[in-house]
Amino acid sequence: MLYDVLIIGSGPAGLTSGIYTSRAALKTLIIAGKTWGGQLMLTTEVENYPGFPEGILGPELMERMKKQAVRFGTEIRDEQVTGVDFSRQPFTIKTERSEYQGKSAIVATGADTLWLNVPGEKQFIGKGVSSCAPCDAFFYKNKNVIVVGGGDSAMEEALVLTKFATKVTIVHRRGKFRASKIMQDRVMKHPKIDVLWNTKIVEIVGDQKVTGVRLQTVNSKQQIVKETKQIDGIFVAIGHSPNSIIFEGKLALDQKGFIKRIMNYLAKPDLAPQDELPASHFRSMTSVEGVFVAGDVHDHQYKQAVTAAGYGCEAALEVEKWLEEQNEHGK
Ligand code: NAP
Repeated sequence: MLYDVLIIGSGPAGLTSGIYTSRAALKTLIIAGKTWGGQLMLTTEVENYPGFPEGILGPELMERMKKQAVRFGTEIRDEQVTGVDFSRQPFTIKTERSEYQGKSAIVATGADTLWLNVPGEKQFIGKGVSSCAPCDAFFYKNKNVIVVGGGDSAMEEALVLTKFATKVTIVHRRGKFRASKIMQDRVMKHPKIDVLWNTKIVEIVGDQKVTGVRLQTVNSKQQIVKETKQIDGIFVAIGHSPNSIIFEGKLALDQKGFIKRIMNYLAKPDLAPQDELPASHFRSMTSVEGVFVAGDVHDHQYKQAVTAAGYGCEAALEVEKWLEEQNEHGK
């Protein structure tokens, strides 16, 4: 079966692409991954997605997007992509179960949790080490926990944990958070949260489960101080890395592995950088013509559900336009 569009990934970017390409009467398949829905499936309340003034649960938002895509004819398979061939048209995408062909593709594979890579971390994942407070906070009722990181994710995790834990300590490697002002204010005002600045986790210790962490702190005299802190759980919230391994050598990636968007001047290949952009340039096209990218797998700056959805829309509109141009040119 030849699809007009193969979409890899089923977070806000992939599902929004599906809604748009299906509504454009393009035969669309989303290869959703084994666990569909992306990172929002791991969150609780989403307060900043427009249209939901009271907030909405992450999994519910994703269910709604999925329903909307299916309503317009998007097919969705919960399969894991194992390989891609973008070297010739039509493109081929292999999963553990099947093989699909498409005239175009949108890569929307998102990003994954970054870990600290310290001794004890791997060993205790699920036994006191977590990356998802909304998933695991319940298990820390009346316990003491640590959250690592200084960005919005760390603030969010800490606030979620206060609903259950007795005490939440944020451990941050610098003396200043990078999180948004509103999140910092909420954290700093919260009576259950305190912060250990200029502090690193060097080891996670325990027996059957986590019992403590070894910390390394720089004190006011710039001396390194080591101490062990007894805790019941540690939540790592230090960012994400793009899910792009299967595209290595197939699409251009940046140094951190994010997929590059190559502004594509198909109408005027001899266009100089200072010239005005022609009508038909494709902002979301990758290094391979006909393969587009959307969402966190290329976006290391905003990483919001709403921007991912926006990028998904952009990629879908560009796929539609690119396929039209292919038909006009009899390709
Ligand atoms: P982030 O902004 O990249 O922050 C990562 C934090 O972890 C930084 O404070 C960083 O420290 C620290 N860190 C990184 N590697 C570390 C390591 N190996 N050991 C110790 N600490 C380490 O990531 P994020 O918080 O996941 O946020 C990503 C994006 O999503 C941001 O744009 C954010 O605004 C957005 N976001 C928004 C919301 C919301 O609006 N509700 C919620 C979550 C995320 P340094 O500061 O020293 O670099």
